Amino acid sequence: DGGEFDIVVIGAGGAGMAAAVGATDQGARVCLLEKMPVAGGNTCFAEGGMNACCTKFQAAEGIEDSVDLMVSDTYKGGHEKGNLDLIRHMCENSSDAIDWLDSMGITLSKLGTSGGASVKRIHRPETGEAVGKYIVKGMTEQCRQRGISAICNTKVEELMVDDAGKISGVRATNPNGIPIVYACKAVIVATGGFGANHEMLAQYRPELIDAVTTNQPGTQGDGIVFSQAIGADLVDIGEIQVHPTVEQTTATLLSENIRGDGAVLINANGERFGNELRTRDVVSASEWDQPGKFAWAVFDQSVHDNNLSIEEKFVARGLIQIADDFAALADKMEVPADAMVEAITSYNDNIANGIDDPYGRVKSLNPLVNPPYYAVKVAPGIHHCMGGLRVNAAAEVLDVDGNPIPGLFAAGEVTGGIHGGNRLGGNAVCDINVNGRQAQETACAYVFA
Ligand code: ADP
Repeated sequence: DGGEFDIVVIGAGGAGMAAAVGATDQGARVCLLEKMPVAGGNTCFAEGGMNACCTKFQAAEGIEDSVDLMVSDTYKGGHEKGNLDLIRHMCENSSDAIDWLDSMGITLSKLGTSGGASVKRIHRPETGEAVGKYIVKGMTEQCRQRGISAICNTKVEELMVDDAGKISGVRATNPNGIPIVYACKAVIVATGGFGANHEMLAQYRPELIDAVTTNQPGTQGDGIVFSQAIGADLVDIGEIQVHPTVEQTTATLLSENIRGDGAVLINANGERFGNELRTRDVVSASEWDQPGKFAWAVFDQSVHDNNLSIEEKFVARGLIQIADDFAALADKMEVPADAMVEAITSYNDNIANGIDDPYGRVKSLNPLVNPPYYAVKVAPGIHHCMGGLRVNAAAEVLDVDGNPIPGLFAAGEVTGGIHGGNRLGGNAVCDINVNGRQAQETACAYVFA
């Protein structure tokens, strides 16, 4: 017997922690359950930042943005498959979410460029820390201050409903398989995607069977399965994002920020092969078209200095080539040095002379001129599940007839509909914060009605 609560939040990633903190502030008795030994989920691996429009931080830099522009970027980036109600709701509430985080000392004030965004809209920590770790650290502290501690090693197996079809609790197990029941009036499902569940991946996208995954091992789609078991509907479930810059021997993600800050992609022939800042699906597909189906992300010391995770994830683990000039770097990469020197010299010269990039790159044309130079060998890897539980803009989980399941709410990667056929970098962190808060708002209104 795990006790009685107003709200059980399942999953202590970004969405679950935002929901737990918000609901506690509204006076709800909250229980936060996490199946892994530590909280954080895939949110811990998020590196890009948080997209948000019309923020005070954009205003301070004179960046003009609008809800309509962010809606249209998100919709177009998702191949016009996303649900416009959900997209608009996320964009409209994005600036508020930035302020909410800032009010708790989680400050995302440094702006950057990200694929598919018309203006500088991705918000990052000033420190150069990866956004996910920064948010998880900050939210863990917020949870601590409120006396919420995620109950770890506790895996929810099943949702319980009463005779009237309302949520009444969850059944979980601890690592010894001992069952525990947590009674509650409402559940917020924040269990993330299924990017580490090869059976589910094979079921929905058989051609991705051999791809490496950037997802933490707990990303098994549990929330999809146990919600479906009580009648929840799914949307866009086959839409799975591959990320173009994953180091393949360790499945380590090289953040999109690296390209956003100026990196170029070089193939086995030592040549660039496209605009590096197109959307993730397009860049991934273009890599698969290259000899050997891989690319090198090449950048300079300035890009390195803007992204602390490069040292920790790549330099410290020997997953990077480093040299003082491009010819020496090419030798280490085992690509033709003449071709690579020519490719990067012409890239730099075009920028210096104001000549248009032949591949149509218009953003982050930062010349690579500050040695030493770096190269990480990358290829596409499974990254994000765009599809999931069907929800409305109030974060209610819908059944196959489109009716809300009483007491069941969801937020974050477990839900589908916002990102359509392709998620823009920075929109997952926006989603978890906006909709983690939305789910608890609606859940509290339901519980206290
Ligand atoms: P989001 O970005 O949507 O917040 P994350 O992947 O960051 O998603 O977090 C989801 C969290 O949910 C992870 O920490 C994961 O281990 C946890 N989780 C997944 N399935 C269960 C389950 N059945 N019971 C408890 N926690 C779960």
